[in-house]
Amino acid sequence: MPLVGALALQGDFREHLTMISDLGAEGVEVRTPEELADVDCLIVPGGESTAIGRLATRYGMMDPLRQRIRAGMPVLGTCAGMIFLGSSTTGRAQPQLGVLDVVVERNAFGRQQESFEAYLDVKGFDRPMPAVFIRAPWIEKVGEDVDVMATVSDPTSGREFPVFVRSGNVIAISFHPELTRDARVHELLLSLVGSVNDEER
Ligand code: GLN
Repeated sequence: MPLVGALALQGDFREHLTMISDLGAEGVEVRTPEELADVDCLIVPGGESTAIGRLATRYGMMDPLRQRIRAGMPVLGTCAGMIFLGSSTTGRAQPQLGVLDVVVERNAFGRQQESFEAYLDVKGFDRPMPAVFIRAPWIEKVGEDVDVMATVSDPTSGREFPVFVRSGNVIAISFHPELTRDARVHELLLSLVGSVNDEER
């Protein structure tokens, strides 16, 4: 059984750990480089990306996280976690890991739809995935090695924006499966343990 870490600096890491234990895997809170070294994969939860970035900087976690993820550790970032994994935002600079080649638009859905629910058609999933968006980001621009797994359309412009992407060992989504309890993204993360190259294990 893999040991699944949840970055526990800020945000709803407890809900993710509940899902992990419902799946029969073991989960632990990760706050230090030593705790990070023990886990086989990691979830970066939703919350507030600037707070996660500030605390990760203060706890000396930025470089250890980058190293583990670049060495192949599977990681799932949800909402604020997606922003934290990304390379830049359309707004002001904030601490980001830069392990996923995407430009993120924070709070992209604007006032009217700050929170809403939708069903997403996800590449490779056999039925739509319920998705709760809470002051959610979308991806404005994806790099070459980034696979777009699902998009939503912007009611204003009609443009489609990625809300679920994957690049090798890095999965990022704009929504909150820990609230709908659809476990397929968590299962995808677990399936990557041992199947993508993780040099440090
Ligand atoms: N709006 C938050 C941010 O920009 C993300 C919201 C969330 O994680 N639900 O960091």
